[in-house]
Amino acid sequence: MDSRKTLNGKDFEISIPSVHIAQAVTRIANQMNEDLQGKDVVFLGILNGAFMFASDIYRKINFDCKITFLKLASYDGLDSSGTVKQLIGLNEDLKNKTVVILEDIIDTGITMDSILKQLKGYEPTEIKIATFLFKPDAFQRAFKIDYIGFEIPNEFVIGYGLDYNGLGRNYEHIYSFVKAQKVINILLFGAPGSGKGTQSKKIIQKYNLVHLSTGDILRQDIESNTRIGQQAKKYMADGGLVPDELVIDMIEIKIIQNKGAAGFVFDGFPRTVGQAIALDEMLRKKGLSVSVMFALDVEDDELVDRLLKRAKIGGRTDDTPEIIENRISIYKEKTARVSDYFHRQDKLVTVNGKGDIDTIFGEISQVIDKL
Ligand code: AMP
Repeated sequence: MDSRKTLNGKDFEISIPSVHIAQAVTRIANQMNEDLQGKDVVFLGILNGAFMFASDIYRKINFDCKITFLKLASYDGLDSSGTVKQLIGLNEDLKNKTVVILEDIIDTGITMDSILKQLKGYEPTEIKIATFLFKPDAFQRAFKIDYIGFEIPNEFVIGYGLDYNGLGRNYEHIYSFVKAQKVINILLFGAPGSGKGTQSKKIIQKYNLVHLSTGDILRQDIESNTRIGQQAKKYMADGGLVPDELVIDMIEIKIIQNKGAAGFVFDGFPRTVGQAIALDEMLRKKGLSVSVMFALDVEDDELVDRLLKRAKIGGRTDDTPEIIENRISIYKEKTARVSDYFHRQDKLVTVNGKGDIDTIFGEISQVIDKL
């Protein structure tokens, strides 16, 4: 699977991975099962774009109900043409039914407005609207949307049923159009002592990026005795992980504070799959995404060796043999899975972290230069 796609000469990159799509579909279907139970429901999928969303939702509905599809067209290439065609293919009786429209995307709302007006002529009891994607910044109408998968920035997207000139509907993720001004977001991943801090410093210098090390930020918070510092202290003392909510909030604040940056190097974050999902989500909402994850691969013995050496040079209070052992075992137990998460998005690059610092950096730079 590719983290990038090129269609008709345009570049697209993943903005909503398939795991998030599956979660959103389940959330919406569960809500519908609660809201619509006992009603005479007809689902109405809008072709072509909503065919995947419609079938994924429909198979999760746990009461008997019908589904039918209708067709119209409102898109021509990258821009909304604003023209809405007639409904075609609607031969189901909708009189006195609860009609649930399943749409792939609502942006200006012009298309949906026209569908709603035309459907009223079929005399349904009520009409509900479910859309997989919604662009609040583009929306110009006032109708209520009952179920929303994702709110997205005003950008062109493909995949999961949505197309660009007929192609891209089969992609399992949602991809968004890559803008000319690119923000690079790099994740540095590896066990404690694998060299994340050292490589981060070199990357931010060369590429003018902002370094976000959750470990450094937490240590500063402890030193300044902030609320976060007070809460984090007890977890860090024995090498355990600070709760997800705390670090996720911390990172979000830093991203907002550094608005307009050329990009970020995340060092020591995400450390759990929950943090990875949260990071993907917060970047997506800002029209950004993870560009690449570098995993620095170093054997255990070497890690312990390096950390003990660091301790001797007056390093950190958590660089003692017992705490080091705990940090490495937590890395294996909870953090290693984060690399699978990004591997599934084809964003993982494993780098041999043993050897000359500049050689390792050379390998990393080669990948960044191609982004
Ligand atoms: P580090 O400087 O990256 O080795 O982090 C030092 C300590 O800070 C870790 O052992 C954790 O207790 C805490 N920490 C740093 N980053 C995170 C994170 N992303 N999630 C949870 N705890 C973290």
